[in-house]
Amino acid sequence: MPEEKVIIFDTTLRDGEQSPGAALSINEKLEIAQQLAKLGVDIIEAGFPVSSPAQFEATRLIAEQVKGPTIAGLARANTKDIEAAANALAAAKKRRIHTFIATSPIHMKNKLKKTPVEVLKMAVEAVRFAKTFTNDVEFSPEDACRSEMPFLIEILTAVVEAGATTLNIPDTVGYILPYEYGQIIAKLKSDVRGIEKCIISTHCHNDLGMAVANSLAGVRNGARQVECAVNGLGERAGNAALEEVVMAIHTRANFLGARTGINTKEIYRTSQMVSRLTGFVVQPNKAIVGANAFAHESGVHVDGMLKDRTTYEIMTPETIGLGGSRMVLGRHTGRHGFIDRCKHLGFTLSKEETETTYQKFLEIADKKKEVFDEDIAAIINDEIHVVEHLYELEHLRVIIDTGTAPTAEVSIKSKGKSKSASAEGDGPVDAVYEAIRKATGHSPQLESYAIRAVTGGKEALGEATVKIIEKDCTYLGRGVSTDIIEASAKAYVDAINRMMSKKKDKGQGKRIADSV
Ligand SMILES: [Zn+2]
Repeated sequence: MPEEKVIIFDTTLRDGEQSPGAALSINEKLEIAQQLAKLGVDIIEAGFPVSSPAQFEATRLIAEQVKGPTIAGLARANTKDIEAAANALAAAKKRRIHTFIATSPIHMKNKLKKTPVEVLKMAVEAVRFAKTFTNDVEFSPEDACRSEMPFLIEILTAVVEAGATTLNIPDTVGYILPYEYGQIIAKLKSDVRGIEKCIISTHCHNDLGMAVANSLAGVRNGARQVECAVNGLGERAGNAALEEVVMAIHTRANFLGARTGINTKEIYRTSQMVSRLTGFVVQPNKAIVGANAFAHESGVHVDGMLKDRTTYEIMTPETIGLGGSRMVLGRHTGRHGFIDRCKHLGFTLSKEETETTYQKFLEIADKKKEVFDEDIAAIINDEIHVVEHLYELEHLRVIIDTGTAPTAEVSIKSKGKSKSASAEGDGPVDAVYEAIRKATGHSPQLESYAIRAVTGGKEALGEATVKIIEKDCTYLGRGVSTDIIEASAKAYVDAINRMMSKKKDKGQGKRIADSV
């Protein structure tokens, strides 16, 4: 079969960010968007601009600064949403408005309280209005897979006539199975008048673990756009995982008659960045990007691999940007070498930031002979603060004595003043956190705490990730150090800083429940 291009529409920053607990700051979204552009995605859905000032601002910044992909914004089928999306996207060279309305009987009746005739009218008006801002308009009938086929055909025919250029068929609730989904796409392709002028798109949720399989069934039946998210992030059980869709198409191009424009060598790096910034750890057995995805341990396999890699390997780790030549820096790396490596890793630092991170790098290189790419990324993320740091950990002392409770003393600097506090705890980290609560006067609830080694070996940097909750809002904090207690303390202080900066911010706004 000749291979046709499948458009990769990334929704990590919109649907993915709607994952419970994945609160990204505006700068973190921009950082991910820049990496998505390097990865070569065709479209970045940057947000749902009307839903909050922060969403609007993130979409606006991405539209202004990220070059390459088309930037899309989500909007319900009403003028206010569409205007907000159009305003947020105004600076983008290539922009798309993605508008949607529910079409299943259950959603129309219970949620929208509208008749099918009213819904059809709203859809057509929304597409026409969006067309006044951009030629590139995508329409999604929300909950398409539980909609009645005759109505789906009718509404899609009407929006094509109104000027929609992409028709997205979302399995909003993750209900459909691959064979059925393929049939829906095939039926629409044959029965919607004018659909040959449009791109048919898939948007599959993973509630039954079918998101990727469904997306590929769509591609087999004529879909030429797949909506997906890095690491499979998304509402509830998530979206189709970008890396799985891309590598399935890459590995089985012949069978699918499809190819993508993705630079697969950037897949691993992108996955790591998204994991780090959202605090969502990638499970070790996750396809493509999990730590074990390319680990061959069984003796028979290893023997086979040594004779011929293809014995047990359908794709190489190098394809996704793993392995190959690993650059290691050390104490003798000069400023130039360090800056070069940072650039290669995708970080653009100001003069001041370069100086701070370089000093920290030297400090780490003193303790740890070999500094890997992962270490550099961790140092930069630790030193370059995405939010203003109201509190800073100045000093930390922990006393662990067998038979007595651990005690911690901390000194926290805020607005030029230092405040010390000490506390006991069940364990050293618990004691440190209690002392930090006393010194800052904030007592957010600790939701989760995790520590991992950034690289292997006993001298590895430790990275602590904590999530705290206050008033139903979750805040993530990270800290890096060669000492895990210090990393833990820094992570907690970081989370409190983010909480304070969000409070100062215009806020997240009320969450909109509708989404495709
Ligand atoms: Zn979705």
